[in-house]
Amino acid sequence: MTQWPDNIARRAVLEFQAYSARGGATDALHLDANESPWSPPPVQSTDGFNRYPEQQPTGLRARLADLYGARLEQIRPEQIMVGRGADEAIEVLLRTFCEAGQDSILVCPPTFGYYATCANIQGAGIVEAPLRADFSYDGNLINDKMREAGGSLKIAFLCSPNNPTGNVIDVKIVLDLCKNFPQTLIVIDEAYGEFTEAASFAATIAKYPNVVVLRTLSKAYALAGVRVGVAIADPRIITLMLKVLPPYPIPRPVEQAVMAALAPAAMPVHTARLKLWKSERERVGKALKASPYVRKIYPSEANFLLLDIEGGEKLLQALAKYQVKIRDFRSSLPSKMRLSIGSPEENDIALAAFGVEVEIKPAARIGEAHRTTKETDIAVRVNLDDSCGTAIDTGIGFYDHMLGALAKHGGFSLVLSCAGDLEIDAHHTIEDCALALGTALSDALGDKAGAGRFGAYIPMDETLAKVAVDLSGRAAMVFKGEFPSDMAGEFPAEMCPHFFESLAQTLGASIHIEVSGTNTHHMIEACFKGLGRALAPAFKRDGADIASTKGVL
Ligand SMILES: *Cc1c(COP(=O)(O)O)cnc(C)c1O
Repeated sequence: MTQWPDNIARRAVLEFQAYSARGGATDALHLDANESPWSPPPVQSTDGFNRYPEQQPTGLRARLADLYGARLEQIRPEQIMVGRGADEAIEVLLRTFCEAGQDSILVCPPTFGYYATCANIQGAGIVEAPLRADFSYDGNLINDKMREAGGSLKIAFLCSPNNPTGNVIDVKIVLDLCKNFPQTLIVIDEAYGEFTEAASFAATIAKYPNVVVLRTLSKAYALAGVRVGVAIADPRIITLMLKVLPPYPIPRPVEQAVMAALAPAAMPVHTARLKLWKSERERVGKALKASPYVRKIYPSEANFLLLDIEGGEKLLQALAKYQVKIRDFRSSLPSKMRLSIGSPEENDIALAAFGVEVEIKPAARIGEAHRTTKETDIAVRVNLDDSCGTAIDTGIGFYDHMLGALAKHGGFSLVLSCAGDLEIDAHHTIEDCALALGTALSDALGDKAGAGRFGAYIPMDETLAKVAVDLSGRAAMVFKGEFPSDMAGEFPAEMCPHFFESLAQTLGASIHIEVSGTNTHHMIEACFKGLGRALAPAFKRDGADIASTKGVL
């Protein structure tokens, strides 16, 4: 007797030997794969572009296991197949388990179209258990259809949150199916899993090995152009799928792009964006109620809204005038269109096209910087038009406190995280955070419209700091002051002027500071607060005047 899951896989998949590809260079002299010994110009040899990558890059697989297992007990790297998007995972599932002309899959339309496309390519049958009129999943219908189809129904594709309807599936429906149909793969497509509060079904794999979860980096993690998605499953399922997955599916530049975008330091940036994304989904949903074209807005737990439209042709004309594209589903779903949630500014334009009166505010000045070196890994996000908070983690308590004071007094929100080589000392962390912060602020300022030249006096008990800033585009820093001690917490006092020097460099500002006092902590803090106070009016947007006689800063 063949054991599960081999008994549900295609015979052919069991019978052939897996293609053997070396993949992944070691320190050995590699004369085994007909590669070039030279790196391609102009790339540095450290990129390893002349060597085949690993079949499943170890570091990437571990990172993704960690990403998707973070809120669960654990997902092990062997439970992950990394492919070119979740799309490839869907295709590989079909090719691994569905015999042409014999086996079938179950889908619940309206849903993501690629399940049926892959079934058609593979020559598998398609059993449909449509969603109810309100687009909820019909557990009894799915159950009946699966019983009827019997053992040849190899895979049930359940999308949650569902594309294009935006709703999630009841946990109980999924668990019942897992229990009742142990010989069928229950695939939960969680391409929009980051946008819902509902828990991932990856947690159920330990109990029900027939569960497969699909995730993608294309939506929430902004990597659609990089093409990476995963299947998460029992290692025995993954082993079969890896036999079918073509060799070397993850190019080295792709791995590098993902590792950078998912670096621990970048995660607070993703969190901040997701929060904004969800609040925009609420805002746009509410605002669309006033649109003359919108009859119904379906509640969504994804980054899009399904709309029931009236006067579709006129709406499309209005959208064209604003150069906005949305997805028209009317050929398959009467009067339905799907609107993706974009940035606040993009959403305002879309709302205007929908005939909703919106106050078009100037775009929020958001700046981001990512800086990775051998010494530090830093992500920064600032919003000059929002002072609603900070999330700062540099690993140096005193420095977090100083940066918090700078942002608070500067009237901007600041997300900054840094993983640095603190085991050596604080120098690289302090300097590199200053450089990255300056870059992010400069990015947010854009053409510097409305920015100006300002100064501030900050007394703190015995201390007095005088700070003046000119956002001139030219970097300069002058510091006058003597600290009575070498350290404030884990923060070396000599790093205080060095912070302002580094910041001035990437911000493109002249910063002048004079500080006197007898307490080092007070003196450093007064300098940071003073810079914040000086920057606050400089960052403030009053109309679009540029405070320079030359008209450009
Ligand atoms: C976008 C999408 C996918 C495909 O994601 P990629 O990783 O970009 O291939 C899969 N499933 C659903 C429901 C999607 O909307």
